[in-house]
Amino acid sequence: MAIIEFVANDLCLDLVNTEIVEHGQPVDLLLSYEHLLDWLAEANLISSSNLKILKKWKNSEEANDVFAQAKTLRASYHQLAEDLIEGKTPSPSLIKQINTLMAQDSMYPQLKQSVDRYQIDFVREIKQPIDLMPVLAALPIDLLTQKDLDLVRKCGNPACVRYFYDSTKNHKRRWCSMDGCGNLMKVQRFRQKNKT
Ligand SMILES: [Zn+2]
Repeated sequence: MAIIEFVANDLCLDLVNTEIVEHGQPVDLLLSYEHLLDWLAEANLISSSNLKILKKWKNSEEANDVFAQAKTLRASYHQLAEDLIEGKTPSPSLIKQINTLMAQDSMYPQLKQSVDRYQIDFVREIKQPIDLMPVLAALPIDLLTQKDLDLVRKCGNPACVRYFYDSTKNHKRRWCSMDGCGNLMKVQRFRQKNKT
């Protein structure tokens, strides 16, 4: 299995990027509920204690159901990325779906003492697979509320399907990763140039 990488500069796009193309073939990096959990832990969206509790649900009907819902949501985020690249507004039905799922969120504020004052920490109760849906639903919030939607890009390698958020100063980032596609395209250009 290919290693899951976080190259998009945005977790929503990173989730979309769990569907890649390798040697011309589409490859899904999320093949099970457990893969989804690993991705969420890797993305720091669930804690290691959450992970432990949630892993106990593997092979359950609840877990399979949430996994299927997560994949459907990922497909919607894929469409969202495409829409943003084409300059379209996100589909109202997606926003509605996100809001419905976020309404189930168990997140609540807690005061926590820091050195000489208090701060607010947001805590989420994650005890069963379904509790993951608000976490997944919240993924596009940062992109849609904090980021410049014109800077969502698709990798410049025609054989690659990964997306990223271009946060470079001059907005000229072209590749999902410099060592991967960036390097590959450089080598190809070099070969092309030296053929003639
Ligand atoms: Zn790429």
